Amino acid sequence: MRILIAEDDTALCEALRFSLTQAGYAVDPVDNGLAADEALKSDGFGLLILDLGLPRIDGFEVLRRLRKRNTTLPVLILSGRERPEDKVTGLDLGADDYLVKPFALNELQARVRALMRRGAGSAAPTLQYGRLSYDSVSRIASVDGAPLPLSLHEAGVLEVLLRRFGRIVSKEQLVEQLYSYDQGVTLNAIEVYVHRLRKKLAGSALQVSTHYGRGYLIDHHAP
Ligand code: CA
Repeated sequence: MRILIAEDDTALCEALRFSLTQAGYAVDPVDNGLAADEALKSDGFGLLILDLGLPRIDGFEVLRRLRKRNTTLPVLILSGRERPEDKVTGLDLGADDYLVKPFALNELQARVRALMRRGAGSAAPTLQYGRLSYDSVSRIASVDGAPLPLSLHEAGVLEVLLRRFGRIVSKEQLVEQLYSYDQGVTLNAIEVYVHRLRKKLAGSALQVSTHYGRGYLIDHHAP
């Protein structure tokens, strides 16, 4: 899942980027409101973390423009402003959550997980399909209760596929969900992760099929 961070405090932005990347998210940082507004015109993001005091255009205006385009993208506001009226304004403009600085990184992580789940249309942290279950908080998959060892990337691919169960997901969508702009990832890497994942899923009663030129689809194994 891909997160856009709009934060002009370089040290904080770097800490957020590090912490969220470690947790397996793809993170794209921008340091001003205009860049955030531009980046948000593409739809590859699963979450926006938005500072209010941003140069060029402030966080409220970024949010106003985003919601005018009718997007339901989850937004978490970060702010040094503790005044209740700022919180009210932010939530009224369509933010989903509001965190006052300074905050603990593990609290931020927990709120990000909750928002990402809601954004993906499922508040339940565990996805269950046939004999496979996937816990989107711990990122642990298991088959009939036995843990299925997956790398972070394999788990990411599995999660994206499961959230669109029975529907085709393009390689480009997988790349968008899993990587940031600056990691120069190739579509070939996705093929490798899918290949490994497919092998590991043998015995789970689920299968990942390739639809040439269109992408991948996870579904129940055909009898
Ligand atoms: Ca700021």
